Amino acid sequence: MSSMIPLVDLQAQYASIRDDIDGAMRTVIERAGFIMGPEIDGFERRFAQFCSVDHCIAVSSGTAALELTLRALGVGPGDEVITVAHTFIATAEAISATGARPVFVDIDPLTYNIDPHQLRSAIGERTRAILPVHIYGQPADMSAINEVAERFDLPVIEDAAQAHGALLQGKPAGSLGRAACFSFYPGKNLGAFGDAGAITTDDDELAHTLRLIRNHGRRSKYLHEVVGYGQRMDTLQAAILSAKLPHLDGWIQARRRLATRYTALLSEMELILPHVAEGSESAWHLYVVRTPCRDELLDFLRRNDVGAGVHYPIPLHLQPAYSSLGYEKGDLPVTEAVADTCLSLPLYPEMSDAQQERVVEAIRSFTQVTVLKG
Ligand SMILES: *Cc1c(COP(=O)(O)O)cnc(C)c1O
Repeated sequence: MSSMIPLVDLQAQYASIRDDIDGAMRTVIERAGFIMGPEIDGFERRFAQFCSVDHCIAVSSGTAALELTLRALGVGPGDEVITVAHTFIATAEAISATGARPVFVDIDPLTYNIDPHQLRSAIGERTRAILPVHIYGQPADMSAINEVAERFDLPVIEDAAQAHGALLQGKPAGSLGRAACFSFYPGKNLGAFGDAGAITTDDDELAHTLRLIRNHGRRSKYLHEVVGYGQRMDTLQAAILSAKLPHLDGWIQARRRLATRYTALLSEMELILPHVAEGSESAWHLYVVRTPCRDELLDFLRRNDVGAGVHYPIPLHLQPAYSSLGYEKGDLPVTEAVADTCLSLPLYPEMSDAQQERVVEAIRSFTQVTVLKG
């Protein structure tokens, strides 16, 4: 029997850079500077440069990055923040954590990102920010979003948790709004060995506030300027991320090559393939196809040792956790249609051509079987 092809293969990545990672970790452990050690500053400088921005603030997770940014911008109880329901729940949870209310806008049927044409009608008296997600690694239509936001004097915060290395008109994700929030959850394009996140921004004042509040409002060890939070990134994670960062461009190139190859190999099959908008270069966090037989195909692939996934099967406006917001089935038709039909195929930089061909062959035999049955 052939071996399982996983959705992502973190062991393969570690094996390829083991010495770099082990050395970086050993340095931190031997010095025993586990909290706010010099590796934090080092990673912040490198990641700010990677995103072409002035500041990077390292925090404990992507969720913390979102929550702290909203708080630093003054979002709180009674406010509304506009976002999408086709995302990981953390996007909306961060809004809820401030006491504000998430307002969901439907997505574009081609890119699955927030539909800028529906943004205007979602803006009201209480709107305090717009939080687009670069879903699957493809940048949202930031020029259209920023244009609406400027008219209403609203900050735009990128949820770039899936988009490290994505480009829009040649500019990196992380530099496309007032601030951007990244996750370094292990399976992301740049992953730590646990939870970690960061905020990038060109706004000096916002960066200053974020540095204070992520670390108990501290100006010095026992002088607390504001009431803050304990949301620092661990020094060990910063050391691991700095060891990985020089490889990120190569990993993104490998993802792009595999994505292009999937599109060529799958082009004859009855599937909706990913659409990349003009001027945008996806970081290909996920390669997502769509089919009305999604559940059957998912099941077939798993039985054939192909680890496909679904991102995300239940949109946020229909989650029990958000029933109090009062949304109903039918409110976000495109979001709901995508949630019912989307399937993420295995994609990671170390994936071999032979592994990819096995995934494609499994899909081919499924479509042949369903065509015969139908
Ligand atoms: C992963 C993810 C987050 C949350 O990041 P964590 O580091 O897991 O807290 C937020 N938004 C999106 C779109 C994500 O994919």
